[in-house]
Order: sequence, then structure tokens, then C-alpha cells
Amino acid sequence: MKILLFGCTGQVGWELQRSLAPLGDVVALGTSGQGALCGDFLDAEGVARTVRELRPQAVVNAAAYTAVDKAESEPDRAQRINALTPGAAAAAAAELGAWFVHYSTDYVFDGSGTRPWKEDDAPDPLNVYGRTKLAGERQVAAANPRHLVLRTSWVYAARGANFAKTMLRLAREREQLKVVDDQFGAPTGADLLADVTAHALRSALAGRGQAGTYHVAAAGETNWHGYARFVLQAAQRHGDILKAGPEQVLPVPSSAYPTPARRPHNSRLDTSRLRDAFGLALPPWEQGVARMIQEILPTAAP
Ligand code: NDP
Repeated sequence: MKILLFGCTGQVGWELQRSLAPLGDVVALGTSGQGALCGDFLDAEGVARTVRELRPQAVVNAAAYTAVDKAESEPDRAQRINALTPGAAAAAAAELGAWFVHYSTDYVFDGSGTRPWKEDDAPDPLNVYGRTKLAGERQVAAANPRHLVLRTSWVYAARGANFAKTMLRLAREREQLKVVDDQFGAPTGADLLADVTAHALRSALAGRGQAGTYHVAAAGETNWHGYARFVLQAAQRHGDILKAGPEQVLPVPSSAYPTPARRPHNSRLDTSRLRDAFGLALPPWEQGVARMIQEILPTAAP
């Protein structure tokens, strides 16, 4: 079994290198590729050619343009990386009869209401990033019937920069933090997403579980304010010395922090389709975040 992985240096791509390994030979490409193999999603033809040359049984695409605010001023670049090239790669995979796994986002929805979004709810993105991700989902699904499009939310990983690390740094420097409390969703670990991907892909390759779009997010919900407080509580439990404790995190509305890209208020995702189709359980978000805090804090006991 040969699996071609794109975007291997990102949060999810890095974890996929680990989780896909037991399934077979993983050829993992970053933006700079490997020899003649092209991994640059600004080059749709080069990426499609790489798929044809390698002839994998599955392609997993973790490459994406993820700079949500910057995308507002770079829509063409975001569209190429998030939609055009994934579509071309999925089409090349279809020629081989290979599966194509692709990731999308809660940002395809407009964030109205409070009900968790189901896969078939009408998308209506609020920003350029969301529009390019929606276009990507559609191009992948149209190009290759053997697709898994996994929509997720609020991804974090122990490796690289993330919201929890930023909160910890600010709480050591400042006596008070202000964090928005009107955007709801579930922080989802890149490790969980990568593990779910491997299980779902294995089922799909074995003819169990259907192609389609699935929501994948940790169970439960919070908002960024609740998430920040949880991070600081966990850090204090592990002996981290903070200037601002959880009580000094003040809730503020999103309107207090205008950003180039509008963000949805309701990012809750209903994951029952994935759990039913693949027999998978998704743990509460607190479990993964607590684990990540333990991994990144030098003071944390095992
Ligand atoms: P990261 O930003 O951590 O990683 C993105 C990856 O894409 C990096 O490896 C990056 O490489 C690569 N990339 C960027 N530009 C190009 C290019 N021109 N050609 C090839 N690769 C490129 O993202 P995540 O791992 O967090 O996201 C994985 C998926 O999950 C994406 O589809 C994303 O849209 C989706 N998602 C993410 C969420 C989040 O909160 N992060 C939330 C919801 C969905 P390099 O390091 O070289 O730039």
C-alpha cells in the first residue's frame, strides 16, 4: 500500500506522518517537494503529475492556505492552494482509482444559530478563507467519487504556535487578559484528527464506510474565553507561575477585536455521521487540550 501525503509539515500533516505509517509506505511531501516530486500547491499541474507518477492507493492532502485574515488580501493565492490544486490532485487520483482525503473547516458556515451544523446544512462562508475551502470541497468531490472530506474546527498541536501557547505566554507577562466569548466550537487536536483519518481511510480502503463529507471535532463545546481559562487552570495545576490566573481572563465580544476576516459565532459541528459510519468515538475537547498542556509545559509531571 502506497499513500501520498501532501502538506506534511503542518499541524495535521506532521501527525499524519505518524498515524498513516501503519497503513503502508507513506511518501510525505512538503511545499518544496522531494527531487522531481512536486508538493507546491501553487503548481496544480506539478502536483497532479506527482500523483500520476507515484500511483498511490490513497492521497491525503493536509496542505492548505490557513492564514484566515491574510486570505482577505490574497484571494487568488488562497483559491489556488485551497481549491484549484486539490481539485487537480483529486482528479489525478481518480484516474488511478485512488482515494483522496481532504480537510475543510467550520468556516464554510455563516455561524448563525446555536445548533451544531450537520454535513448537509447549507454553507455560506463569511470570509475569503471559508469561500476557498468550500470551493475546494466541491472541486474534490466533483473530481473523485472516492473522497473523504473531513471538516474540522479550532485545530491545535503541541508542535508549532497555537492559541494555548499564546495564552500561556500572555498570562506570564500580563496581569489581565481579554478573550472573546461569543464564538463557540470545539478545540480539536491534530493528533486526534490524524488518528481518525487513518481509521476512516483504512475502512474506506477495505470497502467499509462511505465516501463523502464528514464532520470531525472533539466532543463538547466552549468559546475562546472558556478555552483560555481551561488552559491557565491546567497550567497552574502543573505548577506554572502566571501573573494572570483563570480569574483574570475577562470575556469580551468579538466586536471588541475587529479583524480583516469575519468569523462565525457558531462553529459547533455535529459529528454523528462520522461516528455512525466508521464506528469511531470522539473524546471531550478537554482531554486533548489537557494532554497538550502537559506536553508543552516543562514543569508538568507525567
Ligand atoms: P497548518 O497551517 O498547520 O499547515 C498547512 C500546511 O500547508 C503546511 O504544511 C504548509 O506548508 C502547507 N502549505 C502552505 N502553502 C502551501 C503550498 N503553496 N504548497 C504546499 N503546501 C502548502 O494547517 P493545519 O494543519 O492546521 O490544517 C490542516 C487542514 O485543516 C487544512 O485543510 C485546514 O484548512 C483545515 N482546518 C484547520 C483549522 C485550524 O484551526 N488550523 C480549522 C479547521 C480546518 P509550509 O509550512 O511550507 O507553509
